[in-house]
Amino acid sequence: MNVSTTTLLAALDKYLDAASISDYCPNGLQVQGRPQIKRLVTGVTASQALIDAAIEQQADAILVHHGYFWKGENPCIVGMKHRRIKSLIQHDINLLAYHLPLDIHPEVGNNALLGKLLGLNVTGPLEANNPRSVGLIGELDTPMTSQEFAQLIEQKLARTPLVIDCEKPIRTVAWCTGGAQGYIEHAIAAGVDAFITGEISEHSTHSALENDLSYFSAGHHATERYGVQALGEWIAERFGIEHQFIDCPNPV
Ligand SMILES: [Zn+2]
Repeated sequence: MNVSTTTLLAALDKYLDAASISDYCPNGLQVQGRPQIKRLVTGVTASQALIDAAIEQQADAILVHHGYFWKGENPCIVGMKHRRIKSLIQHDINLLAYHLPLDIHPEVGNNALLGKLLGLNVTGPLEANNPRSVGLIGELDTPMTSQEFAQLIEQKLARTPLVIDCEKPIRTVAWCTGGAQGYIEHAIAAGVDAFITGEISEHSTHSALENDLSYFSAGHHATERYGVQALGEWIAERFGIEHQFIDCPNPV
């Protein structure tokens, strides 16, 4: 089975409600390739390693969470960006990227899926008055110690989190996948026991300790593996095309 790039894009834009979400990069088709897609590769980031793996798999399209053309970056196609785009164009591979739409989506969003993976029952948005809040708030069925919660994260994400431990039982949790250390302010405002995100800054330690909030930095890559995989499966099921998720390891 195959699907036209145009049909696939229309279905994705609709399912992810991409047009209604303002973002730091263009969502959808970022680099055009062949008009028909039979084999899809998904990955977290459109790195050279992912492109090379997709070429080896003879993929017609790559779908990622982190694509190109970020706001504020040098828009010129030179250096690393040139090598990546040249590889795509030489092999006629489409590059599709969805950033915030793939963080926010209630079914295939990174945040919804991270919550599900960790057994967190969603109780609301992380940003209290934002219906398009990227992060979420939820609770565990049974409270855990911070050590138990760290073990759960390690077991589910195959990555040891960096923990700023306030040594109190964890029942309510705020989370936001990726590099959302700035969102700790929302977690503090919500009064939860713990905050999970992908990255951490020097000042996050003090904010966490001084606000009695345990902080789990679980990896930007590790927390954002799940949305694009689920979306790839959704596409494969809907259009009957081949899908393979390729996890190019990243310790950050
Ligand atoms: Zn990210």
